Amino acid sequence: MRVAVIPGDGIGKEVIAQAVKVLKAVSNKYNFSINFKEALLGGAAIDVTGVPLPNETIEICKNSDGILLGAVGGPKWDKLPGNIRPEAGLLGIRKELGVFANLRPAILFSELKVASNLKEEVLGDGLNIMIVRELIGGAYFGEKKRIGDKAWDTIAYSVPEIERVTVKAFEIARKRAGKLTLVDKANVLESSRLWREVVNRIAEDFKDVQLSYMYVDNAAMQLIRDPKQFDVILTENMFGDILSDEASMLTGSLGMLPSASLGEGNVGLYEPIHGSAPDIAGQDKANPIAAIMSAAMMLRYSFNNEEAANDIEKAVARVIERGYRSLDIMEAKMKVVGTEEMGNLIANEVSKFQIFKKI
Ligand code: NAD
Repeated sequence: MRVAVIPGDGIGKEVIAQAVKVLKAVSNKYNFSINFKEALLGGAAIDVTGVPLPNETIEICKNSDGILLGAVGGPKWDKLPGNIRPEAGLLGIRKELGVFANLRPAILFSELKVASNLKEEVLGDGLNIMIVRELIGGAYFGEKKRIGDKAWDTIAYSVPEIERVTVKAFEIARKRAGKLTLVDKANVLESSRLWREVVNRIAEDFKDVQLSYMYVDNAAMQLIRDPKQFDVILTENMFGDILSDEASMLTGSLGMLPSASLGEGNVGLYEPIHGSAPDIAGQDKANPIAAIMSAAMMLRYSFNNEEAANDIEKAVARVIERGYRSLDIMEAKMKVVGTEEMGNLIANEVSKFQIFKKI
């Protein structure tokens, strides 16, 4: 397995070091080898090469099976022009890799319910929603123009663009609780009506998945009113951008949430949803769980290793159950640990699980 490791800036370096540690623990346990290759992106790349996305980084990523990315950006580079700022490197690498499906799980462990803004009776025994967002089409990439005192952006989608992300979403729903909700605005938008047609047709090949539809305004409300009704949500770029941030708040801390961006084949870019957090960088205060869970997603989606991915997720749950907390999720009577120690605890826990062999 070839993995490109891009720590990036700020806490990106600290949390990715922990994710690599956990990947090494799981690969030792199951006896497979991972070939890690480090690459520069964002501010770290600007400092060394003058550009946020060096060609060498693109090459390393394209020659890898999975890419593990920390975060980019920081005050040091904030005054640079837009096209050479760290964030341009991030958008650039997503585009270079053609990753069109963005997967954002919103997981709330039952032990962390106090970190959520929602009432306990709404959360039940925790949350586990997967948002699948189309990432490289729609209003953000459609034709845009400004003439005089008028401006417009276009939401344009073609059938193949909808098909490829829809198939991914159905495949994911099939591996989970088997429910898929298409979120759109088909009562008003023509592009949404096309989405419904395509999704409906593809549903014929996934009869084991229960498909439903919901308008985006209702979905925004239902996520707060009764989030447990959702399993997988499929939606277009802009709706997904907004809903996935809303869903992340249900779970309390940015430091807990991973993401995956997938393209054709098994290529995937895996990153925590948080940024480089300059306010806590270099202080061993960052929560590495989002990065570690991103590594688990890489094992699941790029390497089809469900067993190893589950082990990492179970190890995280176990460490939380045992009362260990990073500062962002700290509660009374729990044990606060730094970034490094949290990584060590999870890596040790991964190594502890038994491997049960089928006879
Ligand atoms: P941020 O996500 O970096 O931080 C927001 C707040 O959450 C901060 O108070 C931070 O301390 C806290 N936080 C974030 N991750 C945490 C973690 N793992 N553990 C504990 N606390 C955590 O967002 P921001 O402050 O708006 O942006 C800072 C920089 O990051 C900017 O330069 C921004 O452009 C960049 N950014 C990068 C990405 C990315 O690389 N994907 C995403 C968002 C922001």
